[in-house]
Amino acid sequence: MNALKKRILIVGGVAGGATCAARARRLCEACEIVVFERGLHVSFANCGLPYFVGDVITSEAKLLVATPDSFKQRFNIEVHTETEVTGIDREARLIEVRDLRTGITRQEPYDALVLATGAQPIRPPLPGIDLPGVYVLRTIPDSQKIKDAAAQAKHALILGGGFIGLEMAENLVGLGLEVTLLELAEQLLPPLDPEMAGYAAERLQANGVKVRLEEAAMSFEATPDNSLRVRTSKAATLDTDLVIIGIGVRPDAALARAAGLELGALGGIRVDEFMRTSDPAIWAVGDVVEVKNRITREWQLVPLAGPANRQGRVAGTAIIHHFTCSDQATPLLAFEGVLGTAVCEVFGLTIACTGTNEKQLRHAGMAYEKVYLHPGHHAGYFPGAKPIHIKLLFSKTDGRILGAQAVGEAGVAGRIDVIATAMMSGDTVFELEDLELCYAPQFGAAKDPVNLAGMVAGNHLRGDLPLADWSELEKTTALLVDVRSETEFADGHIPKAQNFPLETLRDRFHELPQNREIWLICGVGQRAYYAFRLLLQTGLPVKVLSGGMQTYKAWMQAGECRTW
Ligand code: FAD
Repeated sequence: MNALKKRILIVGGVAGGATCAARARRLCEACEIVVFERGLHVSFANCGLPYFVGDVITSEAKLLVATPDSFKQRFNIEVHTETEVTGIDREARLIEVRDLRTGITRQEPYDALVLATGAQPIRPPLPGIDLPGVYVLRTIPDSQKIKDAAAQAKHALILGGGFIGLEMAENLVGLGLEVTLLELAEQLLPPLDPEMAGYAAERLQANGVKVRLEEAAMSFEATPDNSLRVRTSKAATLDTDLVIIGIGVRPDAALARAAGLELGALGGIRVDEFMRTSDPAIWAVGDVVEVKNRITREWQLVPLAGPANRQGRVAGTAIIHHFTCSDQATPLLAFEGVLGTAVCEVFGLTIACTGTNEKQLRHAGMAYEKVYLHPGHHAGYFPGAKPIHIKLLFSKTDGRILGAQAVGEAGVAGRIDVIATAMMSGDTVFELEDLELCYAPQFGAAKDPVNLAGMVAGNHLRGDLPLADWSELEKTTALLVDVRSETEFADGHIPKAQNFPLETLRDRFHELPQNREIWLICGVGQRAYYAFRLLLQTGLPVKVLSGGMQTYKAWMQAGECRTW
């Protein structure tokens, strides 16, 4: 390879930066590669931090995927920790670097510069936010501070119901603390729709976490006994020993902004598909960049480790390609956008999603359909089957899969991964029907939950299964017919529903009105589908309420938990 001795400087040495450095080295031995990291550690496992706080990961060393020494020995990459990059002179191709131990500033020349500066936790400018006892979680030292504080604490207040807030709630409960979680929005977990996020709220509540939605902290005061008094937007006062702010992150794009690089409306650095910024000698990767949503093609911020790692690989490749393109030795890779596939676990409940949710689809003005189903994670006849609550979103016109959300105790992440893989190929729900997935009774079912999701959606699009929309339930004039058993009906039903158990329908269908739409309800949708097929053949105008009572309860939960 005609690799000249080019100098590649990388700012930020964790997920995106470290990956980019290692990739560049694998492609080019001749280049000089130097990483500057403001913090104490490089290449550490941010994703493990909540579990380090909770003593699930017991040793700090386990969080260190690599060290400056291992970078030097294995890859011949120089890593300078506790070294902050404070400025970029684009014209001279120099960066200004400050050694945080000595305070000494120097300049370093570059041929290629990579900004992998990540994101900063949002700290709203509230009175008392800088008091001792108010924490964010981003680094290993942050997690050690929270761990030390938790050891002395009885109560913790978490602000923000995203993935990190939920993981922290679980870990602090595990340490024996009482935990209250405040979330400004009307639901937890913004990547999900409210009725799917309701399962997580229920699980937290069942494990003692006090979940308070549509409520935010407004101020913090120190009390004489060294705890904190927090006033909320609902004029409530909460006393707590420690506060963790987990209300989201914003791209750490200060360097890029000061250097005049193009930023997007969301504050992230704008890059092309090769992660190149508006300056042809500067690339950017990870939480600091804006990415295109693969479904809506809108710009988005997706602060996740998977995209940061893949972008680091793409940028490392692009830089070496740039230096060696004359001999075509290094073909380009491209980063085409994100689906936002994500997963988290809270008190034994897995919550996963991929693609868009209803909020995003509405925002993008895209027409969509949705189905709900609640199959077992493996064959029902094999002991231990657990339900997976699935919501699938797809295009009204051609069945292209637009997003999926799933919640359950087992087999959840794998199903979302399969759907994410199908989405990467632009597949439709009809292809999900036909996927050949592994089956033995302890792993799945002859009709896997993913197949079933495709079948319900496919039936709907083909017109074999008209579905009624839950959001229209309050307004509808349709007759609600519950086809569950009398006992199930007596245990709880939708107001105004009438009970016609499936087994009695053949004899009793003539009791149903001929000219009024009928919506069929059962436990999860399956018996209602059988009833639908039966009644359709009698000429009655029927539809099925997707997901049955299980989805109804999820909707009610989403509404109810606001008043907890
Ligand atoms: P980072 O990993 O944040 O690295 C950026 C680095 O740049 C920082 O170390 C910073 O000190 C350094 N830096 C910034 N400015 C300068 C400067 N001027 N000079 C020198 N150095 C600088 N994602 C998932 O996909 N799954 C998870 O389960 C998950 N869990 C998470 C849990 C926690 C607690 C946190 C905090 C994040 C979690 N994430 C998770 C998100 C994931 O860690 C990030 O998306 C990912 O680390 C982003 O990589 P990055 O390289 O862009 O930024």
